[in-house]
Amino acid sequence: MDTDTAIIGAGVVGLAIAAELADGNGSVCVLERHKKFGQETSGRNSEVIHAGIYYPKDSLKARLCVEGKKLLYGICEENGIGFRRIGKLIVATDGDEVGRLEYLKERGNANGVDDLKLLTADEVNKLEPNIRAVAAIHSPSTGIIDTHGLMHYCASKAGERGAEFLYGSEVVGIEKIPGGYKITVRVFDNDKKEIVEYSFRTRILINCAGLDSDRVAGMAGIDTAEAGYDLRYCKGRYFSVAGGKSRLISRLVYPVPPSDTAGLGIHATLDLQGRMRLGPDSVFIDRIKDYDVDADSKTKFFESAKKFLPFLELEDLAPDTAGIRPKLTRPGGSVRDFVIKHEEDRNLPGLINLIGIESPGLTSSPAIAKHVKEIVHAIIG
Ligand SMILES: Cc1cc2nc3c(=O)[nH]c(=O)nc-3n(C[C@H](O)[C@H](O)[C@H](O)COP(=O)(O)OP(=O)(O)OC[C@H]3O[C@@H](n4cnc5c(N)ncnc54)[C@H](O)[C@@H]3O)c2cc1C
Repeated sequence: MDTDTAIIGAGVVGLAIAAELADGNGSVCVLERHKKFGQETSGRNSEVIHAGIYYPKDSLKARLCVEGKKLLYGICEENGIGFRRIGKLIVATDGDEVGRLEYLKERGNANGVDDLKLLTADEVNKLEPNIRAVAAIHSPSTGIIDTHGLMHYCASKAGERGAEFLYGSEVVGIEKIPGGYKITVRVFDNDKKEIVEYSFRTRILINCAGLDSDRVAGMAGIDTAEAGYDLRYCKGRYFSVAGGKSRLISRLVYPVPPSDTAGLGIHATLDLQGRMRLGPDSVFIDRIKDYDVDADSKTKFFESAKKFLPFLELEDLAPDTAGIRPKLTRPGGSVRDFVIKHEEDRNLPGLINLIGIESPGLTSSPAIAKHVKEIVHAIIG
């Protein structure tokens, strides 16, 4: 089997790109090591459609988040994918944090998020009478989405347009050959109970391998340390909040983000069923061992959230899920942008790497897909 474009990874980003590219740009195949799509980070996140507030002006994160948000709302409305434009508050719990709110509002405005409003304590109280805040930013365009529904939509659309999906297929080798790449794939044959390896050729290779995207870039011969592509893993854990308390907020509630840059601070999210979760926190880990949530961390979550959710009791919290961020940013280091790069200058024409696609990767996914399509058009002429 040979193909025009091979995409490694069936997370939300690989799927969105497959749906976009399968529309008249030659043959497309998606390789995914799991038996189904969305088994890694795309199935383990907050499911928030971010407005685009936090990211440096003109960064890919800012640009693709703002564009992706608009595209996502349209895709959801037109295709019956679950979503709610629920809105969000970023709350200051003491006077010292109010300056940070003003800074965030300016940053959001610079990114084209033009509906942000600074609220006084009284105005916050009218919107959310059960939370504690001395001031807040209201972001009405923040929302929540059924991520599985979005991925199902992208996979179906790509399939209808002729893309081929190879599940249970792990890419283990990439070799540059004239006019493209030879890809070696390892498949577990359930009938014969053995591992089978085979190879095929592709003209264009798109690396959307999430937590393993640095390793995949390395397979293609890139010195990932020298390129600045080595990922660090940052675990984000969630605690669920007991049923009745979920009804005490009607929007997402975030603290002013901490300055360590790893996450947005433990916040309160609601899902489409109205269930409240606290999280994610940010814990750098050396290797991906499990997605367990240690019950001993309950007090940390409780104390963080209690500052703005005074109705919480310790016993309301129970360990929930976790996800892992593929981070280019080092602990305490300066913020790194998404890497979305055609590696022509590394003498790897036709290879497009997507590395460090952490939050807001879900929100940005339809805009990332359009951006990658432009790169592919530039390659194929
Ligand atoms: C805790 C947490 C909360 C988040 N919350 C939000 C949020 O609210 N809003 C938002 O916009 N973003 C959020 N994000 C970010 C968002 O989830 C990610 O940016 C997005 O899911 C990345 O999608 P992806 O397709 O790049 O990666 P993934 O979903 O990780 O997909 C990569 C795929 O590649 C496959 N793969 C890897 N190596 C190989 C190989 N060698 N061969 C074959 N297949 C391979 C993997 O199995 C995997 O399925 C959050 C992330 C985390 C961790």
